[in-house]
Amino acid sequence: MSSRRDFIRTVSAPVMVMPFLSESQIQTPVRFDVDGKVLRIALMGLGSYATRVAEAMRSCTRAKLTGIISGTPSKVADWKGKYNIAEKNCYNYESFDAIRNNPDIDAVYITTPNALHKEQAIRLARAGKHVICEKPMALNAIEGKEMIDACRKASVHLLVGYRLHFEAKTLEIIRMRNEGEFGQVLFFQGLSGFRIGNPSQWRLKKELAGGGAMMDIGIYSINGARYMIGEDPVWVTAQEVKTDPLKFGEGVDETITFQMGFPGGAIASCLSTYSMSNLDRFFLNGTKGFAELKPSTGYGPILGRTHKGELTQPHATHQTTQMDEMAAIILDGKKPMVPVDGEEGLKDLKIIDAIYKAVKTGQRIRIKLD
Ligand code: NAD
Repeated sequence: MSSRRDFIRTVSAPVMVMPFLSESQIQTPVRFDVDGKVLRIALMGLGSYATRVAEAMRSCTRAKLTGIISGTPSKVADWKGKYNIAEKNCYNYESFDAIRNNPDIDAVYITTPNALHKEQAIRLARAGKHVICEKPMALNAIEGKEMIDACRKASVHLLVGYRLHFEAKTLEIIRMRNEGEFGQVLFFQGLSGFRIGNPSQWRLKKELAGGGAMMDIGIYSINGARYMIGEDPVWVTAQEVKTDPLKFGEGVDETITFQMGFPGGAIASCLSTYSMSNLDRFFLNGTKGFAELKPSTGYGPILGRTHKGELTQPHATHQTTQMDEMAAIILDGKKPMVPVDGEEGLKDLKIIDAIYKAVKTGQRIRIKLD
């Protein structure tokens, strides 16, 4: 008999923008094991997303922020006080290999610019720590494979920050699809974009971002097409449009439309852009019904409906759920409904490689993801 006791507890989730939700809707059921271990996490790269994750982790029950890695001493001082982090758990980019000797940190969450992910993940794996890495996992499939190999060799987990894989309305659509409620799925539309501001930011530098909108926001439509349709694509075609070649330099894509073909006959038609606002919509159509998520990938609340009516699953702060679920994956071997491992990240990188190749050649590019 297990000595562990499972409880369903309802906690109030801190919520970003949800003025029209009632109190009952912001009550989020969180399942946790009060006797179980907690995953102790260090955040690497204390920028805007790390701040969001740290704030969300205040409400976690199975994951705890215990360390930080930053190149900016003033941020370290600030975060130490704000999140009660011990001096011995603070590192910079030169010193963090020493994390191997730190028993207070189990995993490191990489939230630095895309081009740094690969090397940082490999160093962390060699230091024996589990790696959680932001999307895109790396700049291309070759890098992604190197990360997977390094983590496998070190026997540590490699997880990718796919927070929507734990989002309740998204999971309900996947459940409905698995039950056949949409019939044969034949079409997906993914619109992912925003108007990017400051032209000097790293997201517009190829050497740090690895590309443009596709690496940053288009990846949501790629990943979303796969989890909404429930298959991996076998071909892609793609077209690029650039209206501002000064802001979006060589190798930094502004707008790409792309299409993906799936083995079951479904087609996905997607848009990735840094030049249009309010683009955050997924639409799935089958022979028996449809599903729409709008917004589909923002921080929430995600809103959605199907041919059966509005989706009413409660909103929970994505990063709180994600970090608790990732703790369960690492500590308990829990299998998520949609994978968040390195192989999942690698599939998206292979598709991105193929999309860029399709843009360059004008050809339909065949892909094999397994
Ligand atoms: P950001 O610019 O706000 O933060 C990046 C951090 O990395 C900063 O603290 C910066 O100081 C640090 N850094 C370390 N070395 C650097 C270098 N050589 N150049 C520039 N900065 C350096 O960026 P962000 O929005 O927090 O994005 C970080 C990562 O998180 C990206 O991979 C991005 O795609 C991802 N992200 C994911 C989500 C999501 O919803 N999953 C949302 C936003 C960002």
